[in-house]
Amino acid sequence: MDIASSQHDVASALAGVRVRIEQAAREAGRDPADVTLVAVSKFHPQSAVEAALQAGQRVFGENRVQEAAAKFPALRKAWPDLKLHLIGGLQTNKAREAVRIADMIESLDRPSLSDALAKAADQEGRLPDLLIEVNTGDEPQKFGVPREEAEAFIRANRTRFGDRLRGLMCIPPAGQDPVPHFQFLRQLADEHGLAVRSMGMSADFPQAIAQGATLVRVGTAIFGGRPAGLAAN
Ligand SMILES: *Cc1c(COP(=O)(O)O)cnc(C)c1O
Repeated sequence: MDIASSQHDVASALAGVRVRIEQAAREAGRDPADVTLVAVSKFHPQSAVEAALQAGQRVFGENRVQEAAAKFPALRKAWPDLKLHLIGGLQTNKAREAVRIADMIESLDRPSLSDALAKAADQEGRLPDLLIEVNTGDEPQKFGVPREEAEAFIRANRTRFGDRLRGLMCIPPAGQDPVPHFQFLRQLADEHGLAVRSMGMSADFPQAIAQGATLVRVGTAIFGGRPAGLAAN
């Protein structure tokens, strides 16, 4: 596929996703402007990100710090209002680079990572916005703080990071109805006065918007398929 046709594909897919976001918001009686689209560009080349930028997209999500660090600093020079969200499980030894390059880290999920981010923020003199990832399905193989530990973890990080702790994120279990997971996350965020609810991916973002998502993380529906076996986290 040449660059011109891949740009066309990204632009039109992006336009289609935006229409569906607006429709879902209106159907839920919400203002579409209250839903931010995070375009998840993991495993896609810088040229795909550029096509999305040219089509007006500004917020991007990446799973891996190294991939994000390779792609985004150059793009930021040309597009200073670009925002980068790190959405994948984060190793503590990557915390410093994450703090250096991200505008938001959506995957704060354990005390050791909280410690590493606080230390990195001191060293770098900057602290990205933070979301706590909740493992709403309590799946052993998944990232995210278990449901039972979520309340205490939210309180501890609110104390530590103040208003930089902006909200919660979840990835419901594959093959299950995601709606109860979205409802759980929304309620937990409300109970703690947290405004940002990051939920919904290509397969279920309209449902997430109906349940109050303020960030939707959409990859495949914008950029097309990723190499097999590398799909999620
Ligand atoms: C890959 C990924 C997404 C996007 O998934 P799609 O199904 O391609 O839209 C969203 N959130 C996280 C955490 C991801 O890892």
